[in-house]
Amino acid sequence: MAARLLRAIAPLAVLLAAPTAAKAPERPKLIVALVVDQFAADLFERYRPTYSGGLRRLANGVAFVNGYQSHAATETCPGHSTILTGRHPAATGIVANAWFDRASGKSVYCVAVPGAGPAARGPANLRVDTLGTWLKASEPRAQVVAISGKDRAAIMLAGHHADAVYWWGGADGFTTASTAGPVTPQVTAPADAFDRATFASWRTTPPQLWPQDIPQRCVAMEKPERFGEETLSGHLPPDASAVAPSDKAFDDQLHVSPLLDRLTLDFAARVITARHLGKGAATDLLAVSLSATDYVGHRYGKGGPEMCAQVAALDRALGAFFARLDALKVPYVAILTADHGSSDAPERAAREGAAGAHRIDGRSLLRALNAHLKQGFNLSADPIRSTEAQELTVVTGNPALDLRVRAEAAIWLRGQPDVTQVLTRDEVAAAAPPPGTPPDKLTMAERFHESFDAARSGDLFVVFPPNVSTINPRKTGDAVAGHGSPWDYDRRVPILFWWPGAPAEPVDRTVETVDIAPTLAAIAGVRTPLLDGKCLPEVAECAQTGAALH
Ligand SMILES: [Zn+2]
Repeated sequence: MAARLLRAIAPLAVLLAAPTAAKAPERPKLIVALVVDQFAADLFERYRPTYSGGLRRLANGVAFVNGYQSHAATETCPGHSTILTGRHPAATGIVANAWFDRASGKSVYCVAVPGAGPAARGPANLRVDTLGTWLKASEPRAQVVAISGKDRAAIMLAGHHADAVYWWGGADGFTTASTAGPVTPQVTAPADAFDRATFASWRTTPPQLWPQDIPQRCVAMEKPERFGEETLSGHLPPDASAVAPSDKAFDDQLHVSPLLDRLTLDFAARVITARHLGKGAATDLLAVSLSATDYVGHRYGKGGPEMCAQVAALDRALGAFFARLDALKVPYVAILTADHGSSDAPERAAREGAAGAHRIDGRSLLRALNAHLKQGFNLSADPIRSTEAQELTVVTGNPALDLRVRAEAAIWLRGQPDVTQVLTRDEVAAAAPPPGTPPDKLTMAERFHESFDAARSGDLFVVFPPNVSTINPRKTGDAVAGHGSPWDYDRRVPILFWWPGAPAEPVDRTVETVDIAPTLAAIAGVRTPLLDGKCLPEVAECAQTGAALH
């Protein structure tokens, strides 16, 4: 009898002992989705041994070190659009930060609102729903809030049915807009209160843009640099000129300093308190995108003392933020990723061994191409309207002529020494990758396909060799480095999950940022439409809901 009972119990015991304890808590009270703008996988890895704050905690959770923004258009708006939708930009419709609209002949900002005036901001161009919508469909009392230093980052994370969306508006402090779609606009007061208190305190004590105790390892990296036609002092803090908070230059300096992230996280903590996030019956969502790493990377590159100091400050600010989340004493799940990676200023990258790293003048290349086409086709206006050399739109006003100009432009570009490949919109449209292709195995055409939308994308896609930058700094304050290419340094990002009790589990297999939304949906137990991404079984009990979700 006893033996029979044991036999009956044993499989059950095995089942109960299955590694469910290692998974994220189901239906937590709060999901915190953190995005560090331009946090390239190699940047995360470079400073990993130094982390002691929030980044250490995240790095010691379920850490996917081979995460990918799989698409080619590695910019902020497309990248943010993948994270909580589970869809590639080809589906979100957010193919770039701005695209050329053939109908109006104008550039369209990704979070502009058609018909609502040039300053209006909102998710009108986002073609799909986000985790926030699925949460609210499942439980209307679920709160969805997104906050960022940038409007496009906050709005892409918030989606169409957020309760509140905030972004840093310079002299206005944190701001929002009715077109950004807060479903409870009456609860936007935290921004006013936060900004009033912040600006009042700055009048008596001007804020410290960079921490005073910058780590010695960063100070040791100080070195003057000549990037393009711009000279950087290499000193920390990088901008030594004292500017009063009332000065116009102050907001520019603030953007390019660790203070922006600290303000964003302090404001997020204020919103958690004001809205009682995590204290209701449902699973709330707080999405926070931290912009300073991107601004610092553009202004100073990612390989110098400035980025060293920025990452150290970010680590510390995230540590303080996690302490506030812990103090809620509710089950929560945190995820941190990035909207794209980056490359360093090519001069320093070349010195440090990046093969072929150099700078070309993307604008000069476009000027020369336009001159060639105008002469060849006897045109009076530039047929290429693009401002970025990677994606070109041909507009002559005559569709038949457009095709001939496009073909000639491709031939001319393929003859240029710094052009690796030129893809046409037809080639990109046809390059759907076979289902299940890992992101590191996508062909160049397939990468462009993942961020291609027939109505919004250009006609020609230009691939420059790896480590070649088309950015051309001419004066102090110009960008010296950036991102946007289809190469892996711009596509690879960390994807880090952490929750109280999370196992320290590094995962090497390649995953995608589109896998984040289905994973969080499984954790929250909510239904999703058919997505590009897949639930990550290292984090969530995917099988329980997986079949029902589609
Ligand atoms: Zn970005």
